[in-house]
Amino acid sequence: MRALVVEDDADLARNLKSSLSDEGYAVDHADNGEDGWFMGDSEPYDVVVLDLGLPRLDGVSVLSKWREAGRSMPVLILTARDGWSEKVKGFDAGADDYLVKPFHTQELLARMRALIRRAAGKADSVFVNGDLVIDPKAKSVRLGNEDVKLTAHEYKTLHYLMVHVGEVVSRTELTEHIYDQDFDLDSNTIEVFIGRLRKKIGAERIETVRGLGYRLKRAP
Ligand code: CA
Repeated sequence: MRALVVEDDADLARNLKSSLSDEGYAVDHADNGEDGWFMGDSEPYDVVVLDLGLPRLDGVSVLSKWREAGRSMPVLILTARDGWSEKVKGFDAGADDYLVKPFHTQELLARMRALIRRAAGKADSVFVNGDLVIDPKAKSVRLGNEDVKLTAHEYKTLHYLMVHVGEVVSRTELTEHIYDQDFDLDSNTIEVFIGRLRKKIGAERIETVRGLGYRLKRAP
């Protein structure tokens, strides 16, 4: 899952970047509203953390512009302690959730997980497909009664396929949602991860759709 953090406070931004990376997100960061707007408008993010008080373009305007352009990724806004009216403006502009500063990182992470699973149309916190179960909180994978040990990148690949179970996901799409902007990527890398995943969870579960991409088969 790929996240965008738009936050001008350098310390907070650094902390968020490292907490989100530890949680398994590919993270991009913008320190002003204009850059943040551009990144959210041109890159496919699974979730955005958006500060409202930003230089160059305020958060509410950034969000309004995204929504007017049909950008529908989940957005969590960060507001000041007494900012009830900016909270209201934020929701009216299309925010999905908010946190008041200062906040606990664990709460932010839990809210982000909830936004991602709601965007996937799920109320349950784990993803289940037949005997394959992924728990994004524990970052664990089970196949029947067996724990499946995955590397961080294998996990990210499987998590994305699981969120989009039954759909064809292109290699480009996988690449864009698993890596941040700075990652230097070889075009065969995704194929390697898919190959390893097939060995670990069963080759028949991940179909190659020629010329289009991969599909995690929905269990009957
Ligand atoms: Ca700020």
